[in-house]
Amino acid sequence: MVIKSIRTAIMLLSLVFIVLIALMVLFHAVQEHRSLYARYVQGDLNALTDNMASDLVEVLASQNQFFELKAHLLSLDPYDHVINAAVYDPSWQLLDSYVGRAGMQNTAPVIDLRHWNERREGVFQKAGYLVAVKRIGDPDLVMGYLVVINDYQGPLDVSTLNLALQALPSTLISILILMALFYLLGSRWLSPLTRLSDFAREVQRTKDYSLKIPVTGQYEISALAKNINNMMDAIRQESEINQEYTTLLEERREEMEFLANYDSLTGLVNRQYFLQLLDEALHISQQNGHHVALMFIDLDGFKVVNDSLGHEVGDRLLEQVAARLKEFSSSGDIISRHGGDEFLIMIPECDDMEALENRAGQVVTALMQKYQIHSWELRVTASIGISTSLTSPSDVRELIRNADVAMYDAKSAGKSRYSFFNGTMLDGYQRRLDIANSIDQALEDNEFEIFYQAKVSPYSEPLGAEALIRWNSQALGFVSPAEFIPIAEQSGKITDITQWVINRVCSDYAVIKPLVSHSFSISINLSAHDLKKYYLVGFIRGAFIKFNIPPGAIEFEVTEYAYLDNLNVASEFFREIASMGCNVALDDFGTGYSSLSYLTKIPIDIIKVDKQFVDSIGNSERDDALVVTIMEMARRLGMKLCAEGVEDQQQVNFLTAHGCDIFQGYYFCKPKPLEEFCQWITDMHPDAESNGW
Ligand code: C2E
Ligand code: CA
Ligand code: CA
Repeated sequence: MVIKSIRTAIMLLSLVFIVLIALMVLFHAVQEHRSLYARYVQGDLNALTDNMASDLVEVLASQNQFFELKAHLLSLDPYDHVINAAVYDPSWQLLDSYVGRAGMQNTAPVIDLRHWNERREGVFQKAGYLVAVKRIGDPDLVMGYLVVINDYQGPLDVSTLNLALQALPSTLISILILMALFYLLGSRWLSPLTRLSDFAREVQRTKDYSLKIPVTGQYEISALAKNINNMMDAIRQESEINQEYTTLLEERREEMEFLANYDSLTGLVNRQYFLQLLDEALHISQQNGHHVALMFIDLDGFKVVNDSLGHEVGDRLLEQVAARLKEFSSSGDIISRHGGDEFLIMIPECDDMEALENRAGQVVTALMQKYQIHSWELRVTASIGISTSLTSPSDVRELIRNADVAMYDAKSAGKSRYSFFNGTMLDGYQRRLDIANSIDQALEDNEFEIFYQAKVSPYSEPLGAEALIRWNSQALGFVSPAEFIPIAEQSGKITDITQWVINRVCSDYAVIKPLVSHSFSISINLSAHDLKKYYLVGFIRGAFIKFNIPPGAIEFEVTEYAYLDNLNVASEFFREIASMGCNVALDDFGTGYSSLSYLTKIPIDIIKVDKQFVDSIGNSERDDALVVTIMEMARRLGMKLCAEGVEDQQQVNFLTAHGCDIFQGYYFCKPKPLEEFCQWITDMHPDAESNGW
């Protein structure tokens, strides 16, 4: 499209318009000129030929008409446009003819006048000629005829051309003046539009919606400018709101991204994101030939802090641990909180194993330094497992699993240390896996068994027994409860086992009952996970009804850790247990917690002093004092005291002297299968079956 602006369009249109008008004016002028010309030359010729015709009367009347005639015809010489002329006698016989200037100059073809047959009189146009036919003499006495042929078209054309040529400059000048006028007016009228267009372009370029266009011009133009300014205001307001939304969205997106990829407590990379980064690092390591190392850090004893001092202190501790880990990391390292008290450090391009070992040692040392949280001075240690892409294939999960396995090895080897992964460690891991996977089948195949270990009075009278589970696995051989119970807890299978134990103990009770006194009670161990199972209380109640268990016949043991893991849920659980007439014993007492204040708040009947205290009796005065303090405290709180793991007479004497109520240990009775246990009771009280002691 050639026309790119309104101005050009208007200019072109006005040019066409002006030219058309000019042409029309010119056309009419020419027409007028031509008719004037026709009238003028016709009049002229009429007068000329009238005169000649009257002069020729005399000539034709005279004798010497030949010369006279010639002379008269030659009088036409001064007339430029006469082509030819002729004089005829009354019967139209040619008397004489004449060729005029125009005929001689050949401006128009000469007409043959010898046989002229157009005999009407007058002046008229014929085929581009102006013809005059005149009678010579009176109508009554016609003496002849005069015909004069004038060139008409040629001179008319020349005259018209002259007129056009004369008019052209002034026409052109007029057109130019008009065009200039149109241009100026157009520019003036269109300039507001041009300004608007420039303004729009400026807004588009700068994206500045606060710009304003000056309101000038008149009528629609100023209204348009006002409207555009109003529109700009609206756009600016909208864009400000949009900007706010965008900022908000951006912040939300960043928050979401942070939440999705980072741990909200420590600000470290979270597990999900870490897996992704580790995967990327492993791919890069495959390409550049370097190795990726992974440290799996697990805090030892964190749970104790968290449970005894509260989650708030636990959280602060995790923050401080994270801060120390950051201190010991290099720029390329990625530290992640894997969950709970587990951390992962990825060290890309780690080829120097000695340096890696030094780092692990430094981290262990750094983490074991005391932590100051509020008024508490705390100590925790860390066990670290290390795997590298050198010993583990380039699979993320395998690398983490191997570091985890190595960490488990570090824990088993005594905690607060590091272990490098090696293939043989997988055996232990595999065994844990096998154990976890075999529990369901073992329950189905009845591979579990209950051993009973007696609890006795200071006078060796059986007061009760603890039910201790045993597993003789077809596939795995004998598996100690100390090994499989924690695995069952981790794999969520412990409550199935607990339910099995409750059922078995309740059914065994019928066998034991006839051999013992009415106050004899059998204790069942519960794990922390059991207390969270809302249905377990109902299950216990159901079993008691089903097996007709009298109140007080069954006792439950729970560790301090399990109790405090979720104090409210545990308290509710044991309140219901107590309502069924069951005693509750706090197992392994003294092994974990620094705060004893909870003891006054929970419904506990018996405290079981852990074997490690019993073992320490006689070692030093301090150890003895500790045991005495524990016993004293239990007595003051109105609780009974049971000493676990009693193995010799000296311990019995010491504990008896300090008021211990119940004894449990190999010294009195090792855990035994039901039948042997019954035999043991019978042996202790040969007459029990007959008279019920
Ligand atoms: P625990 O509840 O503290 O049980 C006492 C443990 O000390 C038993 O080990 C017992 O055989 C052992 N023991 C008792 N007297 C002596 C002694 O004089 N010397 C020595 N060296 N050991 C003695 P066991 O049967 O191997 O059980 C280990 C742990 O497994 C138990 O510790 C308990 O926490 C858990 N456990 C056992 N049976 C069950 C069960 O049915 N359910 C649950 N949840 N845990 C159980
Ligand atoms: Ca126990
Ligand atoms: Ca115990």
